Amino acid sequence: MNTTTSTMQEQHHQFITRQASARELTTAALERIAVTEPKVKAYLTVCDAAALEQADRLDRQLAAGEPLGPLAGVPVALKDNMCTDGILTTCASKMLADFVPPYDATVTTQLQAAGAVIVGKTNLDEFAMGSTTENSAYQVTANPWDLTRVPGGSSGGSAAAVAAGTVSLALGSDTGGSIRQPAAFCGVVGLKPTYGLVSRYGLIAFASSLDQIGPMTKNVKDCALALDVLAGHDRRDASSLQYAPTASYTAGLEAPLTGMKAAFPKEYRQEGIDPEIRRVMEETAATLESLGMVIEEVSLPYSDAGLSAYYLISSAEASSNLARFDGIRYGYRPETFENLEELMLKTRSEAFGSEVKRRIMLGTYALSSGYYDAYYHRAQLLRNQIREQFTGIFSTYDLVLGPVTPALPYVQGEKTDNPLEMYLGDIFTVDVNLAGLPALSLPGGFSKSGLPVGVQFIGGHLQESKLLHVAYQLEQTLGLDLTSPVAKEVLK
Ligand code: GLN
Repeated sequence: MNTTTSTMQEQHHQFITRQASARELTTAALERIAVTEPKVKAYLTVCDAAALEQADRLDRQLAAGEPLGPLAGVPVALKDNMCTDGILTTCASKMLADFVPPYDATVTTQLQAAGAVIVGKTNLDEFAMGSTTENSAYQVTANPWDLTRVPGGSSGGSAAAVAAGTVSLALGSDTGGSIRQPAAFCGVVGLKPTYGLVSRYGLIAFASSLDQIGPMTKNVKDCALALDVLAGHDRRDASSLQYAPTASYTAGLEAPLTGMKAAFPKEYRQEGIDPEIRRVMEETAATLESLGMVIEEVSLPYSDAGLSAYYLISSAEASSNLARFDGIRYGYRPETFENLEELMLKTRSEAFGSEVKRRIMLGTYALSSGYYDAYYHRAQLLRNQIREQFTGIFSTYDLVLGPVTPALPYVQGEKTDNPLEMYLGDIFTVDVNLAGLPALSLPGGFSKSGLPVGVQFIGGHLQESKLLHVAYQLEQTLGLDLTSPVAKEVLK
């Protein structure tokens, strides 16, 4: 049995129709991990024993005729900033090198209740700060389409895990693009839900007003099915929306697109964007028009300001969230220290990587009295303008069409010496988080060199269904072969 290319839906179907046991599906995933990991390095922890135990439990449930969840039998992976009871959760930081959470994140509970089998925890940029996964304290993950390139970040491990064919569903978190950008770089589907739709309880916080967990999958239908499991109110997350979807996110995927209207901002078509990405964008617009959608050019005048507002606000929140790592309560502790001050100083100097320190310093500066009004307050005002700008657009249009990134996947090391250049790559994703909106990244085509190119659909508040609908129709029309070279190797 080779399940390298099979989707979440297919694996679940194989299980409930008894074509494959949960143990077989899990063993196959673990074998694929063993084969691909030496090259891809997507996982920080592989939990063989716990996964097989969970698989056996599911096999017993099926045999006993007990009710089974919608993901029963499906091996899945979680970004290593989501808490898993009894399983190491490092945030790819030296700070949490031996942190074994005593509780599960809500998403972990939801996946397990749905019958998914957690096979591993995936690599990320330390504390989710970065766009290439190169800021991990442990390893550099490679892009399964070209091993010399980055998988994107910060959920690069999750994207690479799906693209390498090891799992059909991995969760990522997106604070400023960290689900959508690696999805685009690795040729998978990634959804950043509306802020508050998926619980953040047990997600180790980077910037609490922006962070959101979402699914990364091989196709749109799986993404919709995964969202069915994850969406909904959680009383343990104070920012969780009082909202419960009334129908499955798969309902309505098959309907024609006739009459739907998309806005294509002129700021998303400018020079500066890689010509190959511009070509795929123009082709996408033409395909959507041929499917009956109306596409019109609009302007997003504040889109330039989003990046500065994002880096100020996210760093300010990070400086506050990361203050808890002081060597006293949990996490890294230096071997020797003279007094309390030295304990904190040494803990934070030794255990945080340089990007995390850069953000803490930037954030602390922006929040300090004397600078607060000039930086943090102004960034918040810009955030409001960006939100209003989108509200205006969604009063006329169903969604906004745009690129995910201005560039193709970088070669490893290409951006590491220049943080500002790295930040510029987030230009098309951060506004969505500032406005709290849902957005989906779909593989839209390939560069001449065979690298995947993502396209982005941004929707109004809680309009995930519309994004999934349009993405599904486009995906069906394009019919791209998204099997990466690494996954093809495994198939041989
Ligand atoms: N690349 C962005 C940053 O470094 C976004 C990260 C994220 O979404 N977690 O802040």
